[in-house]
Amino acid sequence: MSKKSWSIEEAMHTYQVARWSEGYFNINEQGNLCAQPHKLNSIDISKVIEQMKNLNVQYPCVIRFQDIIKDQVHKLNNTFIETIKRAKFKGSYSGVYPIKVNQLREVVEEVVEAGSDFTYGLECGSKAELLTVLAYNTNKSSLTILNGYKDEEYIKLAILGLKINRNTIIVIEKLSEIQTVLKVSKELGVVPNLGVRAKLNSKGSGKWSKSSGDNAKFGLTVSEILELIDILKINNIQDNLKLFHFHVGSQISDIRSIKDCLSEGARIFCEMQKLGTNLEYFDVGGGVGLNYDGSRSNCASSTNYTISDYVGDVVYILRDTCDEVGVNHPIIVSETGRAISAHHSCVVTNVFGSIENIKLKKVDTELNDHDHMILRNMKSFQRDLNHSNFQDIYNDASITKEEAISGFKLGILNLKERSDVEKIFWNICSKIIDMTKDDPFVPREIKILKYEYAKKYICNFSVFQSAPDSWAIGQILPIVPIRRLDEEPTEYVTIADITCDSDGAIDQFVGANGIKNYLRAHDLKKNEDYPIGIFLTGAYQDIMGDMHNLFGRLNEVHVFSSDEDEDGFYIEEVIKGQNCSDVLKIMQYSPEVMCRKIKKEFDKAIKEKTIAPKEAKAFSDFYEKTIYGYTYLS
Ligand SMILES: *Cc1c(COP(=O)(O)O)cnc(C)c1O
Repeated sequence: MSKKSWSIEEAMHTYQVARWSEGYFNINEQGNLCAQPHKLNSIDISKVIEQMKNLNVQYPCVIRFQDIIKDQVHKLNNTFIETIKRAKFKGSYSGVYPIKVNQLREVVEEVVEAGSDFTYGLECGSKAELLTVLAYNTNKSSLTILNGYKDEEYIKLAILGLKINRNTIIVIEKLSEIQTVLKVSKELGVVPNLGVRAKLNSKGSGKWSKSSGDNAKFGLTVSEILELIDILKINNIQDNLKLFHFHVGSQISDIRSIKDCLSEGARIFCEMQKLGTNLEYFDVGGGVGLNYDGSRSNCASSTNYTISDYVGDVVYILRDTCDEVGVNHPIIVSETGRAISAHHSCVVTNVFGSIENIKLKKVDTELNDHDHMILRNMKSFQRDLNHSNFQDIYNDASITKEEAISGFKLGILNLKERSDVEKIFWNICSKIIDMTKDDPFVPREIKILKYEYAKKYICNFSVFQSAPDSWAIGQILPIVPIRRLDEEPTEYVTIADITCDSDGAIDQFVGANGIKNYLRAHDLKKNEDYPIGIFLTGAYQDIMGDMHNLFGRLNEVHVFSSDEDEDGFYIEEVIKGQNCSDVLKIMQYSPEVMCRKIKKEFDKAIKEKTIAPKEAKAFSDFYEKTIYGYTYLS
């Protein structure tokens, strides 16, 4: 390929690696994609794949770069600490990681460990999550925040937390929950610390803007907050109300809505303090978005702010409002989830085939006297095509292609002639796409052409298991080939998965100047893997995936960087993905019974002499082997 005219910089630009990865991924001189957990050392993902193969770990596979979680936790805490210092803010920061974003034990353990240098805790939203955070949030004096709907068991578990010296706070999200709290407290003789979630009038922006406003599912309106304060006063436990909270939705794309929410929230907080509450914490919830598409804009797959912009707004708006009203600065809590865990994991899979919408075939373009005029016209378009007339030629060629089809229906053109016209047409299109690829302005019909022309690369994975938000809400996830990035990508492709669902496809990609309907990729070579990575899957994607078509959870490798290893990393752990028998059991089947049933059928066939016993045994063994194998293509 034209290696000379292509550079690593161009690859970086084509896939916007620096922008969506926040520096955690890069391309090395060999043209391989690398992870850079500490921004210094770099882990060649191609080498991780080699080691995976040596360990018999098949595609598709989740790769977790555990160091990235650590770095993200440090970055968030340090940004708050530095900003608080700069603003001369008198409170501190005591964040929590909401485990619903990724509850995998290894992720939670890494977060807790990374947070042990700070007062960094955990947040939960259900009973199973609460059981988890009680067992795992071992950081001293950090918070354990309890959100979500609550029953008596849930409250009792919170009190259990107090007994083992966890700083648990139950956040009241519905006024009626206070009655449950009072009842359990009376029974156990302990009153837990409480928080209150406010229903703000200000709205988030992006896909989750419904999480706030009058119609939101969670939170107390200001009049309900006043009612709550009265109830607490009557029961003489107003000092147990420690935390003020709001959460206006995830992936907030516009910093303006964050500012609006902060201003309103800070105002309510200060008014409550003036009414005599003794709140210690101001909890701004989650919502920090990711720059999935690299555009750094307020569209749904991006944000028009950085983490430091966000932290700056939280600290300064809160400080100014408190100072204005004359209220002490509280401890700031954030429940930042997505921005902590998204970068650390990616899915690697291989392209094992392609579906070509239009096959480019060699066709005779010599003008022949006996050619029909329609065919002669098409041939001359191809001959005359150049960069200054491509639009004109495209228009004429499109009309001529239509004419050929009409001509064929009328019996004027035969099958061979129609086929030649179409082949030349697609050759012309392909040349136009190629000659306009560096143009700053490309006419709309040519852009669409690229999309229509795009091949499908079939990848060994399921969108529903590994990239559910791409299917459910049109979330853009960065997809980048792992190797050959020093080579110009000559193909324009979309991605199809191996489910039998036509929705199991990806046709929106991060591109050089905004979202594209195609991915630029390399041609496939025989006997050579072409691995691609789907990135930023560490938040929600990892755990929200489902078993559509009974494709199960993926194999996983956990990678740590290390200066002592030759390649700068080691695989600390391999977790095998689900095999067919695992997913069948979830669906109430018994793999043993299934194997027995198949054996019985073979016994019958042997008796009926339709199969030899030896062959029958081999086949039924094969059935059994497959049932205990990986659900994906091997
Ligand atoms: C989901 C959730 C979060 C996490 O939000 P992100 O947008 O992932 O940061 C935080 N707090 C609450 C109450 C949530 O429900």
